[in-house]
Amino acid sequence: MLYLDELGKTYKGEIRLSEPLAPYTSLKLGGPADVFLIPKTKEDIAEAVKWIRKYHIPHYYLGYGTNILVGDAGFQGVVVRIADSLNSITIQGTKVYAEAGASLPMLVLETLKAGLAGIEALGGVPGTVGGALLMNAGAYGSEIFDVVEKVEVIRGSKLVVLGKEDIHHEYRKTNLDQDFIISCTLALKKGDKEALLEKRREWLKKRRDTQPLDVPNAGSIFKNPPGMYAGALIESCGLKGYRIGGVSVSAKHANFLVNDQNGTAAEMLALIDYVKAKVFEKHGVKLEMEVRKVGIE
Ligand SMILES: Cc1cc2nc3c(=O)[nH]c(=O)nc-3n(C[C@H](O)[C@H](O)[C@H](O)COP(=O)(O)OP(=O)(O)OC[C@H]3O[C@@H](n4cnc5c(N)ncnc54)[C@H](O)[C@@H]3O)c2cc1C
Repeated sequence: MLYLDELGKTYKGEIRLSEPLAPYTSLKLGGPADVFLIPKTKEDIAEAVKWIRKYHIPHYYLGYGTNILVGDAGFQGVVVRIADSLNSITIQGTKVYAEAGASLPMLVLETLKAGLAGIEALGGVPGTVGGALLMNAGAYGSEIFDVVEKVEVIRGSKLVVLGKEDIHHEYRKTNLDQDFIISCTLALKKGDKEALLEKRREWLKKRRDTQPLDVPNAGSIFKNPPGMYAGALIESCGLKGYRIGGVSVSAKHANFLVNDQNGTAAEMLALIDYVKAKVFEKHGVKLEMEVRKVGIE
């Protein structure tokens, strides 16, 4: 790709070309990225972002890919993935510093082992800390922004530290979309370690019992409309098990659309449209996607 030589002068991370994206997503769908960057340091990220902005290159920031649907044609541009790198976690008293590439389930476990309460309900939310912040991930009545104190981002080409009050956050949404999230500081509370670990075990079991975790999925495809559950609306339309090609509505949880037979993104999009249409027809409710489309108009 044009300009790659220039990036290589200052950026020391990995650069891959035509990298298939499906393996980097929990849905295991979609085509390749033209350019795939794996930065190893904050400086690498800063250089990559500076370069992307200088040439207005289409880009996508990726964590563990547990909340995205990549189109079959892939992504024409640059994907920057920080997961498995930039993943340090530091606990000092009740304050927790975590880099965006850290695994959220790992972060939760570390805080509970340290006897800290606040994010125990998020133990089964897969993905990175960066993805959790961008999405304001939540479960069982709590969300990550309940405990966020500060978030460090690259905004434009500058590293800035935002206080919680500077960030708009609501159900599965923040205004950090244009930023590269680097790290966060959470303010937790002291709690009873054994009780917290037990609670986490209960929630993980609940997920195993109610969610199709053994087949590729992206969690809840749709947001819950106010006062309603998307899963219940879909189930009431008799859609559990409904299939288009290699993808289907999970028989275990109707808000999970699963790639259980090597499906394509086109099939998943067709299934999403079908489910939306049926729910609207029966209930007059417009379902909104929680999962984000990548490389799809
Ligand atoms: C089985 C299963 C269960 C789930 N359960 C829940 C649940 O209970 N609650 C819930 O909230 N979610 C749930 N999810 C969805 C998903 O796990 C969360 O949204 C998660 O926080 C996404 O993190 P990620 O690293 O995978 O993000 P990705 O999918 O990689 O990306 C998601 C969004 O975050 C952006 N992003 C990622 N990292 C950065 C960064 N460093 N800087 C800027 N932007 C970034 C991406 O551009 C994208 O827009 C579930 C998913 C699965 C597969």
